[in-house]
Amino acid sequence: MSMIANPLIPLDEAQTFVLSHCKPAAPVATAAHLALGLVTAEPIVSNELVPPFDNTAVDGYAVQAADTADAPTSLRVVGSIAAGDNPTMTIEPGTAARIMTGAPLPAGADAVVMVEDTEADDSAGTVTISKSVELNSAVRRAGEDMTPGQTVFAPGTMVTPGHIGVLATLGIDSISTHQRPTVGVLSTGDELVEGPQKLEPGQIRDSNRRTLLALVAQTGATPVDLGLVADDEAAVEAALRDGASRCDALITSGGVSMGDYDYVKLVLSRIADMRWMQIAIKPAKPLAFGTLDGTPIFGLPGNPVSSMVSFELFARPGLRTMLGVASNTVHRPLIRATAESPLPRRADGKTHFARVLLRWQDGQALISSAGGQGSHQLSAMAASQALAVLPDGDGVDSGDTVNVLLVQPT
Ligand code: AMP
Ligand code: MG
Repeated sequence: MSMIANPLIPLDEAQTFVLSHCKPAAPVATAAHLALGLVTAEPIVSNELVPPFDNTAVDGYAVQAADTADAPTSLRVVGSIAAGDNPTMTIEPGTAARIMTGAPLPAGADAVVMVEDTEADDSAGTVTISKSVELNSAVRRAGEDMTPGQTVFAPGTMVTPGHIGVLATLGIDSISTHQRPTVGVLSTGDELVEGPQKLEPGQIRDSNRRTLLALVAQTGATPVDLGLVADDEAAVEAALRDGASRCDALITSGGVSMGDYDYVKLVLSRIADMRWMQIAIKPAKPLAFGTLDGTPIFGLPGNPVSSMVSFELFARPGLRTMLGVASNTVHRPLIRATAESPLPRRADGKTHFARVLLRWQDGQALISSAGGQGSHQLSAMAASQALAVLPDGDGVDSGDTVNVLLVQPT
């Protein structure tokens, strides 16, 4: 293993390299009501008119608009139509029908007067219309929302509750989605333990594995816990081979930097096709990425903040690509925000990602430091909603605007 430092790779180049090895998972038929968070593999095409028939948007009276031109005017009431009825009457000049929201418009009617603008005289069988209405007023025409043959959503769309509603409206029970990738996560390091027991000198608890499993789940892939593996060559190899045999992607944390017991590096170099990168960012400078028997492997750095930032910048876009989302939507949104606190840094040839709190005021995004910015200081990362992208230089002052990556809901 060479100890000569690689030249720093620009972030976008490293991202392009990683994404070029992530392929959308195979399509599979999925029950429409179970498709939340999955990604369409085919266009969803309407097979029907929606709405299926002309109907009323309000409770009121179906009329001929011309009859209301000289309102107030009195019309003879020829019937009442509820939602779900199939009306048989025809509205002739001088007549109206009581009608409820969603009910089919009767033949002859071309507008609906809302009930608030009417006064019924039940004994006389008439209604007085107090306001004139225009043609098509309060009428929802068949096909105004969707028409047969229309592509209602494109391939590469992550299904939301609204999409599930559209599918229900169209009577589509099953759609083609990309399979949810299974993603194995393992930790390595003799210093790591888990659970509540008292730490022995030199020990810390394994936080990365649980964090990364949660990030995988939040991304919409299926997390698989591959456990905590000791710094032991055979154990690391066995865990990696086991993971590659039953997962669509693997994520490791730790053991990819320059340490002396980096068995992840030793084993992956031998059994997988890996690229060992030093990226021009801080945190998360080291990244190993490659494939083991065709399975993509993300070798994330071990420091807890670094592993999370590396997940955000590389693994999440890669997993979203595997989920099938369109390539222009794999990354987190980048917005402009105004700094409310200084975010100092030193020039070092790298782009820094500062962990920041983000709040909205009058439509403006305002950011401030989330706390300690060390790559071991997970509490500030956990508190943050965004990563401020600080270009090489000496940072930003209060009042400066800066790009920020939205990493959690605000
Ligand atoms: P390494 O890359 O293995 O040298 O680890 C870099 C730093 O990250 C060390 O301080 C490790 O103790 C820490 N680290 C590695 N893996 C984990 C983990 N799973 N949870 C918490 N800290 C970790
Ligand atoms: Mg280690």
